Amino acid sequence: MEMGRSLRLERVALPLPPLFLLAHGAALFFAGTHAKVVSLVFLAAAPLLAGLVCAWRGWRDRRMEGWAALALAMLLWSLAMVANIIGTLLAAASSVGAATMLLFVLYGVPLLFSVASPEGEARLVRLVDAVLAAALGYLFFVYTFAFATIADASDEGVLSLRLMFDIENAFILLFALARWHASPDAESRRFFATLVLYGAPYMATAFYINHYQMEVDYGGTMDLLIDLPFLLLAAIVLRGVPAAAQAPAVPQRLERAVRAGSPLMLPAMLMMVSSLLVFQHPALAIIGFIAATLGYGVRNVLVQMRSFDEQDKLAHLSLVDALTGLPNRRRFDERLTDEWARVADGGPGLALLMIDIDHFKLLNDGLGHPMGDARLRAVAAALRGSLRRGGDLVARYGGEEFAAILPATSLADAAAMAEAMRAAVERLALSTPAPAGVVTISIGVGHGNPAQGMTAETLVTLADAALYDAKQRGRNQVAVRRTPLPPPQLRVAATPQ
Ligand code: GH3
Ligand code: MG
Ligand code: MG
Repeated sequence: MEMGRSLRLERVALPLPPLFLLAHGAALFFAGTHAKVVSLVFLAAAPLLAGLVCAWRGWRDRRMEGWAALALAMLLWSLAMVANIIGTLLAAASSVGAATMLLFVLYGVPLLFSVASPEGEARLVRLVDAVLAAALGYLFFVYTFAFATIADASDEGVLSLRLMFDIENAFILLFALARWHASPDAESRRFFATLVLYGAPYMATAFYINHYQMEVDYGGTMDLLIDLPFLLLAAIVLRGVPAAAQAPAVPQRLERAVRAGSPLMLPAMLMMVSSLLVFQHPALAIIGFIAATLGYGVRNVLVQMRSFDEQDKLAHLSLVDALTGLPNRRRFDERLTDEWARVADGGPGLALLMIDIDHFKLLNDGLGHPMGDARLRAVAAALRGSLRRGGDLVARYGGEEFAAILPATSLADAAAMAEAMRAAVERLALSTPAPAGVVTISIGVGHGNPAQGMTAETLVTLADAALYDAKQRGRNQVAVRRTPLPPPQLRVAATPQ
């Protein structure tokens, strides 16, 4: 069982680091002259173990990407140690030393990618990020070899490489911290928390070893210190991040700033490495700068295009009623204002239909709300199907009420259209506990134009009054209000001429 297995692995998590260190220490003690090779085997095993645990975690949670990147990084580090072993065994330390250095630097590339490229982004955008990360890896490669050959002779080369490691580690840690605090979902927060809990001791260890223990060769007790970050990572991934490390929610603005800003890390790193290469490989440095600028530009274009698409989708959604798919009240109000402003003097005028389902409460009470919703959808479809002209609009006005705008329509034509709608709904023969036995609607028709001193609001009031008449007269019918006869207080609301 899933639960049982993860519980058992959790129990392995705590004893794993001390047992591994104990074994490594004992091996060092008993290996004698072979101490270096034996210790290197342990140094290759520690990141390999951590990598396997990360891969397992990614597989278990079906959330491969971040964990896969972490596993790949561990594998590269482990391979660096394998190269070291080969170099030691062949007594060809300097030529293999370059490969080791390269693998150390490459180790950071998948990590940089996973902290810099948000997982929710479109595939093409991730591809651009991956290309930038690959370019970064290539320039690292060139840079490392430019110095690796000098490394034996010049202190400057070694210093440069150390600087590169420090910058790379600091970048990863910094961005992992930011992503940890600003990730929207708990799962990514847990991933970045893991990366921070591993990255901080890794960076500290690397800094200490690279700057203060440079002369010390492998095969000493210092190697146990190098094991530590990897064992810690394996233990953390096996046990799961402690609850305290699961950062609290952050303000949405910060979350967005980090999400939008983290992709800047890849081109920024690319430019930094390019500038380090400017004297040894000027042409490559320029290509690096161009790739960084262009890559980031293309990325922004892609992201912006997607955001335009999403804006369109949202704009559309904000005007459509979710239940019936008809235009919603907001769209109706917009259209009414527009159409009312466009009514021509002396033209046929504008008609407004207010439509209300009869005894809908009885239907809801008798058949239940879900059936009520289904009936609403069916009526909406019938009303939409009754429209004859492109300029006509029927909207869900609210609840079980609909409204139609019929531009450039005479009162007689509007009444005929209303009657067609009423008949169409009746023809559906939708059963209901209401007295009629089938779902019916009542429609009030209002008609007018601004030249009569009416406003769009008085037109709505007029149609509402007509609807009231239709209900009063027994429902399932169309009623018309011929002349604007608003009560006295509404006259005040009419536009003064
Ligand atoms: P009348 O013939 O006088 O219109 O009677 P009625 O029962 O239809 O009265 P009214 O128009 O006031 O009914 C409104 C009812 O419509 C109340 C509410 O429960 C129901 N309703 C409003 N919106 C929805 C909805 O989205 N889904 C469902 N199922 N019912 C709704
Ligand atoms: Mg009703
Ligand atoms: Mg109603």
